Amino acid sequence: MDNMAIYIDISKCTACRSCQVACKNWNQLKAEQTQNRGSHENPPDLSVQTWNRIRWIENHKNGKISWTFFSDRCRHCDPPDCKYIADTFVEGAVIKDSSGAVLFTEKIKDIDPDEILSACPYNIPRFDEATRMFFKCSFCSDRIPYGLPPACVKACSTGALNFGEKAKMLQLARDRIKQLANDAVLYPGEEYNTFWVLPDKGLLQSI
Ligand code: SF4
Ligand code: SF4
Ligand code: SF4
Repeated sequence: MDNMAIYIDISKCTACRSCQVACKNWNQLKAEQTQNRGSHENPPDLSVQTWNRIRWIENHKNGKISWTFFSDRCRHCDPPDCKYIADTFVEGAVIKDSSGAVLFTEKIKDIDPDEILSACPYNIPRFDEATRMFFKCSFCSDRIPYGLPPACVKACSTGALNFGEKAKMLQLARDRIKQLANDAVLYPGEEYNTFWVLPDKGLLQSI
């Protein structure tokens, strides 16, 4: 299978959160009780039951306030640090499939959870004490072989979420950076199978 990628253009995200709901729906993840924290951002963090969430980044410029919406989820790093560390303990606990998805297997239960938690530079995996499993975005690797895009991409109506062959997604991202001009950047970089175009490199310090 071709190396696939999810490309996220955050300049097109309206924070509708259809992607959050679609992820829960496809993966049969439970809704969680949350509280008003004085912010539109909800839920407050990734969890065992929430694998993708829209972070609200508040910007202050020339006396005006605006928001940027960042869909936080696993970067499906290539190569992934979580797999590098897991392999030093148990081979096959973290795998990378031919589409580019980074996935945790049952073997991860044999590894000290702190090793996996500290291995991810992006604070993505969430540990479930009850099952001793880790949970995070799966790249919808159970949809891709059937020609289906990830559920979150399918639900996004603005063009913020895109899915396809990695080379094509990178080209779309490069074209968008040229269009946006000024300070637009690719985040975290090309060595990832989920990547974002940020309209302003100043956002890097908020992510
Ligand atoms: S569905 Fe698309 S526009 Fe809506 S919050 Fe998710 S990424 Fe943003
Ligand atoms: S790719 Fe699938 S698992 Fe990952 S955030 Fe999107 S819907 Fe959720
Ligand atoms: S973002 Fe973290 S959990 Fe996801 S592949 Fe990279 S290191 Fe692993």
